[in-house]
Amino acid sequence: MENQERKKRILSAIKPSGDLTLGSYMGAIKNWIGFQDSFDCLYCVADLHAITVRQDPKELRRRSLEQLAAYLSAGIDYRKSIVFIQSHVAAHAELSWILGCYAMFGELSRMTQFKDKSQKNADNINAGLFTYPVLMASDILIYNADLVPVGDDQKQHVELTRDIANRFNSVYGNVFTLPEAFVAPVGARIMSLQSPENKMSKSESDPNGCVLLMDKPDDIMRKFKRAVTDSGREIRFDRENKPGVSNLIEIYSAAAGISREETEARFEGKSYGEFKPAVGEAVVELLRPIRENAESLLRDKAELERIYKEGAERAAALAARTLNKVKKKVGLIV
Ligand code: ATP
Ligand code: MG
Repeated sequence: MENQERKKRILSAIKPSGDLTLGSYMGAIKNWIGFQDSFDCLYCVADLHAITVRQDPKELRRRSLEQLAAYLSAGIDYRKSIVFIQSHVAAHAELSWILGCYAMFGELSRMTQFKDKSQKNADNINAGLFTYPVLMASDILIYNADLVPVGDDQKQHVELTRDIANRFNSVYGNVFTLPEAFVAPVGARIMSLQSPENKMSKSESDPNGCVLLMDKPDDIMRKFKRAVTDSGREIRFDRENKPGVSNLIEIYSAAAGISREETEARFEGKSYGEFKPAVGEAVVELLRPIRENAESLLRDKAELERIYKEGAERAAALAARTLNKVKKKVGLIV
């Protein structure tokens, strides 16, 4: 009964592996805000995921708090949604161990992100990098989330989560809800401004290719003015042949809240030299209130602490129910 009556549940997370970017905002946070009225939402700072790559401890702490502040300042309401820090809810890591025994070496080896990150961190291909998707599956399954809003790059991990859940359910009965990935149509993949064939990523992109959520207006304008475009002069969406311009169209459309076609029409006959600063200005205005709000939140550490502690308590209460059930099913004494 309870299951039929409840709102659909959403779980989404970002790891504090770098400063949040325009990609994190457009591909994730921006969509989270609108979900809060129709869904039961949990939004997480995935600090345990961040340490799969070596982090400076002080920086990691700073970024975790900054990320929390950014969620709130962008419009996540901690009274409506559960906002928390992953490591504060120990049950994620506990479930992850159990689920690791239901995830296959072969399937984990096939994950694009694992292959990608191993290449980029060749000197530190640790087991955590490999089992990352299992922890992500725990994040999702422990709350019986129905929907997981992700960027295009994370779809594969949600598929794997379903496979793990299915495998577990087929042995023990209906324990886990099968989650679905939810990829927003616009802003699903924001690319680097300097190498538009690569995703704008908070831990990898070069500084000029990456617009940070906390960048000041001057920095944002400079980055857009230097953005790589393509040969030709038409402002037309064509990812394959015009990756740079297409990315700028995508960004402008998301910032202005219009479709790609409307953006093309708005800039018809205009030069790249006119288009680039226009995109920059749209982004400056989009990010200004978020940065300013986050800065003032970060000045009140006690309030932030109150918010994440309350979030952790609420999340832990939900997580404990699932973990208990799972432990019983597999034969642990609870
Ligand atoms: P990292 O480089 O450490 O992997 P990241 O920038 O890829 O960081 P994640 O924490 O892996 O960020 O992803 C958080 C969420 O943001 C995911 O749902 C992901 O799909 C989305 N996301 C990240 N970067 C982009 C992007 N450039 N465009 C759209 N969505 C993105
Ligand atoms: Mg990533």
